[in-house]
Amino acid sequence: MEDLVSLCKRRGILYQSNEIYGGLQGLYDYGPLGVELKNNLKKSWWAAMVYDRDDIEGLDSSILTHHEVLKHSGHVDTFSDPMIDCKSCKSRWRAEEIENNKCPSCGSSNLTEPRPFNLMFKTNIGPIDDGSNFAYLRPETAQQIFTNFKNIVDSTSRFLPFGIAQIGKAFRNEITPRNFIFRTREFEQMELEFFVEPSSADKWYKEWVKTRMEWWIKQGISKDNLKIFNVPDKDLSHYSKSTTDIMYQFPHGLEELEGIANRTDFDLGSHTKNQKDLNITANVDKNNTSNAKLAIQDENNNWIVPFVIEPSAGVDRGILAILNEAYKIEKLEDGKERLVLSLKSHLSPVKAAIIPLKKNNDEIVNNAIKLKKELQKTGIGRVVVENTGNIGKSYRKHDEIGTPLCITVDFETLEKNMVTIRNRDTMKQDQIKITEVVTFFEKYFQT
Ligand code: ATP
Repeated sequence: MEDLVSLCKRRGILYQSNEIYGGLQGLYDYGPLGVELKNNLKKSWWAAMVYDRDDIEGLDSSILTHHEVLKHSGHVDTFSDPMIDCKSCKSRWRAEEIENNKCPSCGSSNLTEPRPFNLMFKTNIGPIDDGSNFAYLRPETAQQIFTNFKNIVDSTSRFLPFGIAQIGKAFRNEITPRNFIFRTREFEQMELEFFVEPSSADKWYKEWVKTRMEWWIKQGISKDNLKIFNVPDKDLSHYSKSTTDIMYQFPHGLEELEGIANRTDFDLGSHTKNQKDLNITANVDKNNTSNAKLAIQDENNNWIVPFVIEPSAGVDRGILAILNEAYKIEKLEDGKERLVLSLKSHLSPVKAAIIPLKKNNDEIVNNAIKLKKELQKTGIGRVVVENTGNIGKSYRKHDEIGTPLCITVDFETLEKNMVTIRNRDTMKQDQIKITEVVTFFEKYFQT
């Protein structure tokens, strides 16, 4: 973990947030390369969910959430972690971190009883702070998907089964943010709410666990480091009938990367008025104040409240897992070592670096800039000109940040129109005609 943290800071992937004022715990900023990596991961999820299928629509909803939404969803009453304080060393813990009734920091058994601590951030809306105009920063993106259910059904004429996908920030006032970006107070989720006929929920639940495992493997996570964990009934969230966690072997231990839950008709049912007319199975809040009927008609025009299967993945935990998988120290033939980030090429922050052999030769540099512009136009991703005049140093840097291709422009480019392309993983160098680089580049990123 220390090596990863140090690489991330050195190369501009992640920084501690608000660092110049001493930092704020549990918050991180994505730097110039981090934002590219994060955008690429989100793009890959969106493509797999929305573009490659025909049964999912997208949404980007507000972060500030009406307190009634989170009241009826159960979050106001139950979205809490039990918290324990050590009276000896004053440290604070989530109850699940305490083993054998001993403080993990000082070993004392002089601990408080567990007290529930609500994880939601509350804020004020508008200029008057009289305690009535409050809202919450959403603790999950899901609730606004449910509140928009009718809007989306009406505007897209969807029938079951279909899903709504959303990527966005979520906020939790975690008691113990820890382990770099694994547990933070502000993070991003990639969430799908997939609405199905209640009788087909178990089938879809299994299907989504499989689909999501396969997707993580395509992002470069090795199968051996992923484990499926069926959450025991006693540990299920208030809305869930069954939950499967996709666990990953993080540097600090085996922990949740994504959760797939069968949320039944709990959420749509909770936000629905006149529940008695509908066949809602979940134990929902009967004092609903919404004016909505979050239901859909089947082919016989009967109203049904669908069940929801929710695959909910953390963007930041995904980034941590992907960096951990990609980070490699390789022994070279000459006895030296190199650090290489062997990211899947669709995730690499920089797709290609164009390196002019001589930094003071205008003709070489101009050729490099021209080539960069042509490659940039393909829309595949960021291409940079690395005008340091030091090829060895540029290769080292681009190995460390996972750039798949380095393209050197030199005197042969001027004389014979040839460039040298170096492959990050094999370190093999091939000469190709400059006029063929765009096609080579496009083909490389297609596969
Ligand atoms: P945990 O048990 O680790 O606190 P959770 O079960 O509360 O996680 P969910 O409510 O299922 O998490 O949220 C879905 C996903 O959102 C998680 O699988 C995780 O990837 C991500 N996530 C949740 N909390 C955090 C956090 N504090 N920091 C970063 N990512 C998070």
